[in-house]
Amino acid sequence: MSRRKIYRETSPETRLCTACGEPILRNLYIEKDGNLYHYGCYASEKEKHFKCIECLGECNGLEAPRDWSQPGAPRTCPHCGSIGTLKNLWWWKNREKL
Ligand SMILES: [Zn+2]
Ligand SMILES: [Zn+2]
Repeated sequence: MSRRKIYRETSPETRLCTACGEPILRNLYIEKDGNLYHYGCYASEKEKHFKCIECLGECNGLEAPRDWSQPGAPRTCPHCGSIGTLKNLWWWKNREKL
């Protein structure tokens, strides 16, 4: 679906950014899986780096989009399918200190 079509055929309340959960009024970016982002949110999700506590698989924010239909909008690990097990590198670094 093209950006123009999405702007025309959806209302802002349903056009929610996958990263921040806010309506997208402008700077819409459509990720290849069809998820919608603010352009700035897309860029920052791409830079995020997660590692799963279950399978130790790594991914970026785009590979594990938040699920806003669930409480707390958890991320699902793209490697093992576990929900809410992805931790950022800051978490892993602090964990090693404990
Ligand atoms: Zn956003
Ligand atoms: Zn995993």
